[in-house]
This record gives sequence, C-alpha cells and structure tokens, in this order.
Amino acid sequence: SSRGFFLQSDETDHFRLSGDIALVTGASRGIGQAIAFALAKAGAHVVLNARDPGQLEASRSELAAQGLSVSAIPFDVTDPNAVAAAVAEIVERHGGLDIAVGNAGQSLRKPVGQFDGAEISRLMDVNLGAALVLAQAVAPVMEARGGGRILFTGSMLGQIARPNNALYSATKAGLAGLARALAVDLGPRGIRCNVVAPGAVRTAMTETAALDPAVDAFVKQRTPLGRWATPQDVAAAALFLVSPASAFVTGQVLFVDGGMSAQA
Ligand code: NAP
Repeated sequence: SSRGFFLQSDETDHFRLSGDIALVTGASRGIGQAIAFALAKAGAHVVLNARDPGQLEASRSELAAQGLSVSAIPFDVTDPNAVAAAVAEIVERHGGLDIAVGNAGQSLRKPVGQFDGAEISRLMDVNLGAALVLAQAVAPVMEARGGGRILFTGSMLGQIARPNNALYSATKAGLAGLARALAVDLGPRGIRCNVVAPGAVRTAMTETAALDPAVDAFVKQRTPLGRWATPQDVAAAALFLVSPASAFVTGQVLFVDGGMSAQA
C-alpha cells in the first residue's frame, strides 16, 4: 500500500558515505579542510588537494591523527594536465572516484575599474574554469562507476552583491550556472551536481576583514542568525549534497549564510 511505502523501514543511513572515494580541492585549510573532515567522518576515503605541499601535508596529518582515512595530492586546479593526472592516480590507487568537491577558490576585492586583464583571466580560471576542468576529468570515471556527485563551493556573493567585489561575484554566479548545466548534461549518466554557497565564514580568506570591528559588526547585524558561519556549518551542508540524503537533488544552490541573503 502507499502507506506502507511511506512508512517502510529503510536500512540506508542517508548520511553515510561508506566505501566512497572523494576528492576535495582547496583542502589544506578553511572550508575545504572542514568538508574533507565531514566526508571522511561519514566513511569516505578523502583525497585532499591544494598547491602548497607543506600546508597540504599538515592538513592531511591533522585528519589522519583523528583516525580518518585520508591522503593528499598537491596540484594546481587551473592546470588541466595536473587535474587529469591526479584523477588517474586516484583511480589507480582506489579503483574509482565517487565524489568530487571543487572548493579551491580565491578572492580579489577592488573597485570595478581597477581589475586588469591578467587578474580577470586568473580569477575566472581559478574560481570558474577549474570547476569545469574538474568535472571534465571526473565525469567519465564516475560514469564508469554508475554515477557520482560533484559539488562546487560557490558563494552568497554569486547571488547578492557587495561593493568592490565584481569579479568574485561574477565567478561565483558562474558556478551556479555551471552546476545547472552539468546537472542537465550529466544527470542521464547518474551524476548529480550542486553548489554550496556560504555567506561570511571565518577563514584565512576573511581573516583581515573579520579583524575590522566595523566589518564584524556589519556581518553580525545583517545576518538573521547573528554570527559568522563556521567552516563546519558549510561542511554539514556539503555532506548533505554529496550523500544519499540528497539523491534527487541536482542543479541546485544551497545557501549557508544564516539568512543573510534572505534579507534585503
Ligand atoms: P582559504 O582559507 O583561503 O582556502 C583556500 C584553499 O584553496 C587553500 O587550501 C588553498 O591552498 C587552495 N587553493 C587556492 N588556489 C588554489 C589552486 N589554484 N589550486 C589548488 N588549490 C588552491 O579559503 P576558504 O575561505 O576556506 O574558501 C574556500 C572556498 O569557499 C573558496 O572557493 C571561497 O571562494 C569560498 N567561500 C569562502 C567564503 C568565506 O567567507 N571564507 C564565503 C563564501 C565562499 P593553496 O594556496 O596552498 O593552493
């Protein structure tokens, strides 16, 4: 009966990732490290990435010390050959790849007239182009496994704008469009693609701003929940978006901003 359907007990733990292999870019600190921690805690083997090998190894050993199954491959997400080589190495070592989190990103705040051509190309590449390159590298591997999950770290600033951040906002809005397009193109192959969009998070990226009492007060006053986000707030939403709990969710942007973008 339909009643039975809705009430049936289900052996699946919807937030478990047991046996899954995951890659998280930009995982040497901040939001990426918190996402790597959450995914590994949920039972995945997590491959951490960032450019600086020293910081990356420190992050990996911090997670390994907590009994988590983690490894690390340093590379630059804007180098398509390096991305392809890393994915090949993961498949070689672990037999496949189920989850890819394109989280590496950079910020460049300036008045709109002051971005030069090289800066525009570089930030577009790191924040947006690299996400497409990652998807290109992982999609065939995921398809061979019968499906997979791709997640990008976008931003609230892809949806609402603040002064002097035009380039960053444009790249993060682009990620939302990319995730929708990938959801359409890769859905028939069993691959889901979503964006987790944090508001103001206390990390190295926002360290200087957060030390300014005026910025700190602004964030707290403009956020209905009255505080900065933690990397763990973002990681919990990321875990949802790559877990069986979100099995029918694709092409979406989930804001983790304490309600900041809900308020005019
Ligand atoms: P973060 O502390 O600066 O960490 C950035 C990470 O990305 C580091 O591990 C960094 O390591 C890595 N990375 C940067 N460029 C890279 C590249 N070309 N190739 C590989 N790795 C690279 O920043 P975060 O605050 O955790 O931000 C993580 C993501 O969240 C970014 O996409 C950011 O835009 C987004 N976000 C942050 C906030 C916030 O308030 N903090 C809000 C919304 C969205 P290496 O430098 O060693 O490569």
